[in-house]
Amino acid sequence: MSGSPLAAADGNGMQQDPNCIFCKIARGEIPSRKVYEDDTIVAFHDISPVAPVHLLLIPKAHVPTLYETTAAHEAVLGRMLAIAGRLAREQGAADGFRTIVNTGRVGRQEVMHVHIHVIGGPDPLGPMIVRKVSQGD
Ligand code: AMP
Ligand code: ZN
Repeated sequence: MSGSPLAAADGNGMQQDPNCIFCKIARGEIPSRKVYEDDTIVAFHDISPVAPVHLLLIPKAHVPTLYETTAAHEAVLGRMLAIAGRLAREQGAADGFRTIVNTGRVGRQEVMHVHIHVIGGPDPLGPMIVRKVSQGD
């Protein structure tokens, strides 16, 4: 199940949405600064970092939000969290970081492909990450 009427399985049986920017990054169709990739997940630098270390971890399969995840996604979600610390440390956040999963309208999710933000750096973060929002938001 994908949650998107456009999503379809690719030749490997992986759910993909042809219009999804993170699916395109997972397939290597648009550039990204990847720091990790295996058969089910990809990690890359956020294009608009809010801290010295700002990575995004995504499943290669298209899943829009945490509302659509099921028991079938437990392994891939676990893999994303399990590797977050290693990647954070490798990228320079060796003394702590924050993980965030924005979901839906209320969570201000902008890219409808599940992703975990890994945010950190040498210095402590503010109590909340503040992203400028445009007027009317
Ligand atoms: P969210 O609000 O949780 O959906 O966050 C989406 C994140 O994706 C934002 O932090 C964006 O800066 C980031 N982003 C959007 N497009 C790209 C891209 N092409 N490469 C890397 N990061 C991106
Ligand atoms: Zn996608």
